[in-house]
Amino acid sequence: KNQNLFVALRAQFPADLDATAVETDNGLFYTWRDLDHATARMANLLASLNLPAGARVAVQVEKSVEAMVLYLATLRAGYVFLPLNTAYQSAEIEYFIGNAEPSVVVCSSKNFGWVSKIAFSAGTAHVFTLDDDRTGSLLDRAAHFSDQHTPVHSEADDLAAILYTSGTTGRSKGAMLSHGNMLSNAVMLKDYWGWQDGDVLIHALPIFHVHGLFVAIHGALINGSKMIWLAKFDPKLVLRKMPEATVFMGVPTLYVRLLAEPGLTREAASKMRLFIAGSAPLLIETFKEWQDRTGHTILERYGMSETIMLTSNPYTADARHGGATERRGGTVGFPLPGVSLRVQSDDGQALPVGEIGGIQVKGANVFKGYWRMPEKTREEFTADGYFKTGDVGKIDERGYVHIVGRAKDLIISGGYNVYPAEIESYINDMPGVAESALVGVPHPDFGEVGVAVVIAKPGAQVEADTVISALKSQLANFKIPKKCFVVAELPRNTMGKVQKNLLRDQYKTLFV
Ligand code: ATP
Ligand code: MG
Repeated sequence: KNQNLFVALRAQFPADLDATAVETDNGLFYTWRDLDHATARMANLLASLNLPAGARVAVQVEKSVEAMVLYLATLRAGYVFLPLNTAYQSAEIEYFIGNAEPSVVVCSSKNFGWVSKIAFSAGTAHVFTLDDDRTGSLLDRAAHFSDQHTPVHSEADDLAAILYTSGTTGRSKGAMLSHGNMLSNAVMLKDYWGWQDGDVLIHALPIFHVHGLFVAIHGALINGSKMIWLAKFDPKLVLRKMPEATVFMGVPTLYVRLLAEPGLTREAASKMRLFIAGSAPLLIETFKEWQDRTGHTILERYGMSETIMLTSNPYTADARHGGATERRGGTVGFPLPGVSLRVQSDDGQALPVGEIGGIQVKGANVFKGYWRMPEKTREEFTADGYFKTGDVGKIDERGYVHIVGRAKDLIISGGYNVYPAEIESYINDMPGVAESALVGVPHPDFGEVGVAVVIAKPGAQVEADTVISALKSQLANFKIPKKCFVVAELPRNTMGKVQKNLLRDQYKTLFV
């Protein structure tokens, strides 16, 4: 059987191919037939280029339906899709193209000059342009090809995409994902999140990342569900579209921005079935405020480029956990069906319930390894085949997984482990505080100490000294940050993840 992911997605297109598959915020409507034909034309174009087996198609373009078509066409043609963050500039593109050696590069026409120069020097044979207004040489060329195409035969283990990680903790690594990795995850999520007839997804995320590209697009396509496609996240537009939709996926910052809209009410969200959050921790306060304002409980889930989705709060009763239905704020829920998740100490011992350690996972969704980093790949897998996620957390007595931070963000102060999420949650609970980040910096006596960076709520006054003295009355001395700064905002990358490495850098000479 052909295990090509495109074949599995195509098989779920609705019988009525003239129904709308994608509706854009600038008034374009794409039918299911349009998606089928457009991906066929582009797959035929790719096939005509006589690319070597396993060729990479690297893509740095603005979000558009055609960019999604290019992704699907790459699968259909049996090549490897490699999306790149639109924020990347020449130094970054040089690294990624040099590292991935793509046969095809697709870029925005405004970047063609410098991107093509980098690509040709790296040996790329073909550079096309694609803009977000349905123009560019890629579409011009594809228009000459037939709209009929037989999907290439793929095995489950064949490479489908290389997804560079977000680079939150250091240089991005290329996660190699197979057709089987993605299909198994998509099929399972369709069931776990209760996708149903009539579902409509508001797609407001970038499509160079696992969240918008895989979780959102696969989710809608494998359910034959329409997408309302927003080129950029715009809270007012999301609100306006909610009455026509049932599912929304967002990173936590999108929820915060929606909450800032007075129009976000129970009424506005009454047609919605499900709000899903992930990619970064959702503050408990956002979770509660969302419940108060809309009557909906956000379903938080956890995953990463290397594994797609790993855990989720339940959508309905989870029989594996005594029929638990509660979506618990501050947790990322249960390991998803088919995912084995365990917590281990640094010396490789299994830890009992409630104890904090490194999160390790195994399953059909777990990637094949890091592109051209065999050493790193070996280091990150255990002898019995578990992938070390780099995240630190625990499983509670009810089976819910809690993430307390990344291993690289842990602070060891005077020999004691300090888990940033714990201290941050106390700070976030203080009056006037919007959010916070705790980072470790070098210290002559303690090795490392915590520095708290705090953001006040609009209009609120927060004093650094008050934060520290309030913590002292609640927590052990080794957990108390030695310094606190109240600043205007936290540095974030395009996925809304706090860049703690930048904060560490900024404060690294405070004590030494
Ligand atoms: P890099 O690996 O290059 O440092 P990154 O880990 O941020 O970057 P991604 O693969 O995009 O790159 O992100 C996965 C990470 O995001 C997870 O390992 C985890 O730390 C974090 N994450 C995802 N979902 C959640 C969540 N619900 N709560 C807390 N953290 C989350
Ligand atoms: Mg990572």
